[in-house]
Amino acid sequence: MSCLDCSKRELDGRYTQSSKELRKAWGCDEDAPNALMRITCPKCKGQVSDCPSCEGSGVKYLKRCPNAVALPDVSNALPYLALAQEGGPLPEKGGLLDQTSAFRKALLIYGEEIGKVREYIQENARNSSASNKIK
Ligand SMILES: [Zn+2]
Ligand SMILES: [Zn+2]
Repeated sequence: MSCLDCSKRELDGRYTQSSKELRKAWGCDEDAPNALMRITCPKCKGQVSDCPSCEGSGVKYLKRCPNAVALPDVSNALPYLALAQEGGPLPEKGGLLDQTSAFRKALLIYGEEIGKVREYIQENARNSSASNKIK
């Protein structure tokens, strides 16, 4: 989900009509009407059955644009993480071991979360094709 699309402005600085609609749908300025994505609970990593943050479900539902809630260093790292994940260029010269340990750690987490997203998408595709067969 890219915020390039929800940040397009007219020449006078106002958001374009399509940006305004995206900003509403993606929760750029306030909670979106529906949950946008599901993440592993960052408090307990899905490991604590009486976690107060996720009430033991292990997941959290996000209603805000990730760019609206991410800390600046996270937003800055994201494009590099996406590139590195695809085997593209790394922020520091050299190989993976030449990167900062924070970057390597972030890359691991990013890879895990992307894996979960792909699983979720596949699961949904399977479920919807299964329910189509029932009809
Ligand atoms: Zn946004
Ligand atoms: Zn939790």
